[in-house]
Amino acid sequence: YDLRNEDLRDMQELGQGNGGSVKKVEHVPTGTIMAKKIVLIDAKPSVRKQILRELQIMHDCNSEYIISFYGAFISDPNICICMEYMDKGSLDGIYKKIGAIDIDVVAKVALAVLEGLTYLYDVHRIIHRDIKPSNILFNSRGQIKICDFGVSGELINSIADTFVGTSTYMSPERIQGAQYTVKSDVWSLGISLIELALGRFPFSDSDDDSDLSDFEGTLSPSHPLPPKRTPIERDKKKKRKSKGVSLQGGGMTMSILELLQHIVNEPAPRLTPEGRFPKEAEEFVDSCLLKDPDARKTPKDLLKHTWVEHARTSNFDLEAWASTF
Ligand code: ADP
Ligand code: MG
Repeated sequence: YDLRNEDLRDMQELGQGNGGSVKKVEHVPTGTIMAKKIVLIDAKPSVRKQILRELQIMHDCNSEYIISFYGAFISDPNICICMEYMDKGSLDGIYKKIGAIDIDVVAKVALAVLEGLTYLYDVHRIIHRDIKPSNILFNSRGQIKICDFGVSGELINSIADTFVGTSTYMSPERIQGAQYTVKSDVWSLGISLIELALGRFPFSDSDDDSDLSDFEGTLSPSHPLPPKRTPIERDKKKKRKSKGVSLQGGGMTMSILELLQHIVNEPAPRLTPEGRFPKEAEEFVDSCLLKDPDARKTPKDLLKHTWVEHARTSNFDLEAWASTF
């Protein structure tokens, strides 16, 4: 495809994220339906061109577990990334619509994400860096694919500098400033799987009905703490026990720090209550959420876990499941 903005007809708004917005579009000359991600980047033209060059690697990412890439172009002041459209949307949207996801589906999600991560790393030495339910997409053919992985170092830098990123799926070692490794993605996968199986973000305790999933902070790759200029308004309806201290004039409350400290200092969340889910599922999630990255396995190793092996051979019909919503 030789993509130009004027050939793309907007059809539907699919969602807004931290980096920009995503629209369903038609590439009119070919009739192809695509998802167009618009990322506003405050960078010099030379940097934009560099980002565009780096994004071209996505043309070589061919896996049934990775969203296909149609192309990217600059449409000042934005960068537009055109990718495969997934008609059932992302898994966060699905569970918010239908409730907690069946554990057999969650097992298939684990398998697909691990396959995708293993492919990206083994073939391209790419670490995803942003595994979360909104970056795991589903379609009516029953396919599960991951998107929004960190192909472009320049894009990662530009975005970290200019906008607020979610930090809640971040591993303890990342919060403490260690480099990203494939094992940080495994942590994020563990958090995501609990969220799907329970139908809610795991870092929210029952005695305090606030849910921390909406809290976001700016975390630059080189200086993860403290977050800078992050407008966080925690729990507007209810006054919280924390004081809402403003840090560095950025207008943020303590809540993001509380969450990050919680991830670092407290035991990892688990698939609970005990006995509700298969032992193998509980055990798999526990191994994703080992706080020590040295003890945590890689995606490739986790593909050998019995729960994941069973998901591979199970005859659970995802296409039939997709037709139920
Ligand atoms: P985030 O991933 O943080 O939610 P994004 O800007 O990446 O933010 O995406 C916004 C929303 O657009 C996602 O939550 C998802 O539901 C939807 N979306 C993204 N890519 C696609 C796609 N290829 N097909 C269908 N929906 C998509
Ligand atoms: Mg996304």
